[in-house]
Amino acid sequence: MTRLPVVILGAGLTGLGAAYRLAERGGPECAVYEQHGYVGGHAASFRTPEGFTFDEGGHVLFSHYPYFDRVVERTLGPRRLTHRRESWIWIGGHWVRYPYQEHLFQLPPALAYECLCGLLEASADGRRRPANFREWIEASFGRGIARQFMLPYNEKVWAHPLEAMDYGWIGERVATIDLRQVLRRLIFREESQWGPNNVFSYPLEGGFGGLASAIAAALDPARFHLRRIAARVDVDRRIVAFRDGHEVGYEHLVSTLPLPLLLRLLDGRVPASVRDAGGRFLRNRLLAIGLGVRGECPSSRHWVYFPEPQYPFNRVTFLSNYSPLVVPGAGTYSLLVEIAFSPHRPLDRRAAIEDTVARLEDLGLLRRDRIVSLWAKGMSYAYPIPFLGRDALLREVHGFLEARGIYSRGRFGGWRYEVGNSDHSFMQGVEVVDRILAGRAEETYAAR
Ligand SMILES: Cc1cc2nc3c(=O)[nH]c(=O)nc-3n(C[C@H](O)[C@H](O)[C@H](O)COP(=O)(O)OP(=O)(O)OC[C@H]3O[C@@H](n4cnc5c(N)ncnc54)[C@H](O)[C@@H]3O)c2cc1C
Repeated sequence: MTRLPVVILGAGLTGLGAAYRLAERGGPECAVYEQHGYVGGHAASFRTPEGFTFDEGGHVLFSHYPYFDRVVERTLGPRRLTHRRESWIWIGGHWVRYPYQEHLFQLPPALAYECLCGLLEASADGRRRPANFREWIEASFGRGIARQFMLPYNEKVWAHPLEAMDYGWIGERVATIDLRQVLRRLIFREESQWGPNNVFSYPLEGGFGGLASAIAAALDPARFHLRRIAARVDVDRRIVAFRDGHEVGYEHLVSTLPLPLLLRLLDGRVPASVRDAGGRFLRNRLLAIGLGVRGECPSSRHWVYFPEPQYPFNRVTFLSNYSPLVVPGAGTYSLLVEIAFSPHRPLDRRAAIEDTVARLEDLGLLRRDRIVSLWAKGMSYAYPIPFLGRDALLREVHGFLEARGIYSRGRFGGWRYEVGNSDHSFMQGVEVVDRILAGRAEETYAAR
């Protein structure tokens, strides 16, 4: 059995970040094990036989890190397109630009009035500390915006009771309220370009997955072991066993597997509190539906949020507006639909696809007889939910794992939605390698 200084489980962007940094530092020796026959994890893309490329849900590329920017520049280079975001909300038969609260002037007067009254009441209300995400929404946005958009949309996308969620993760993920700004935009009818992703890029070729493929192409292929499913991690002997019987020993293990799965794989002296902790991590699932259509794209938008219950989906992306190379040629376009689900919002896949097509037809976004490609992919991990008590649980679990040389990082390995995008994930991989090799403190996945 080989024993390596660093073993990486998973070739998503976190695993790629770790492998990239190890290669850049000139070692030590490492190996990346991935269950699928491709790299990229959730950031991979899939091509249908009809020539349409779809991603695992709407993905756009933006970054908080100069290091990540340099990696993208070195690997993708000019083979990417940059867009100024066009994101909208469809509500009550109206198109409203995102973020909702900054575009109240696009609402019918009665709805805008309700929002404004709610905001004034909320700002006059003595601030008590909200106990959960629902209370935070009500206290921050007031009853109008909460009722119309924030509550129904968040209930749909998280597919969990908002009372079970914390709000400490919000940071730049949700646009909050600046009352003066809201009034200014309402009166002067000014559009806003809020948000870290108001300008985003997207690979020219290969869908969003073009990014992971380009990064992997810059690395030594001999380091990658595809179609190897980790089945057991012996924490005492520091050995990973794979489903096919192969074993590898490690000094340091960077795991990007979903944390509850990693905890299930642990073998050896593991306290029951750690072994059982996996069941407490809440997540939603997602059905992504890709539709390749004959005709001209009916909109120049990038994506649209759908908070209302009559629409089964929470978001529709006009994917062919990201890159012309995700469709087989002129005269075709593609839509990517996301439906979040969970035991709280069960899903009948076949009915959901049928309902989706019917609703998109009603909206004038496609004609059923012009659909030339239909792709659907279920994801059993989509959003790691920031549930109440998450950080204390994470501290306990990481305390045990890290004392045994196991670093669980990434969107589901680290279970911090607020640092779960591609750039964050890649940097978690980079930074954990710097910690292992040089003792440097991690910033992205800093302890809380
Ligand atoms: C719906 C959705 C939308 C998103 N939108 C964006 C966006 O707009 N912009 C953005 O930057 N990011 C976005 N992301 C995040 C991005 O797709 C990745 O999830 C993120 O980069 C995390 O990567 P990761 O490597 O931590 O995890 P993953 O991508 O989940 O990679 C983990 C890897 O581990 C492998 N694995 C699992 N079990 C085993 C096993 N037993 N043995 C071996 N291998 C195993 C998996 O196959 C996978 O390749 C989105 C994610 C989702 C789900």
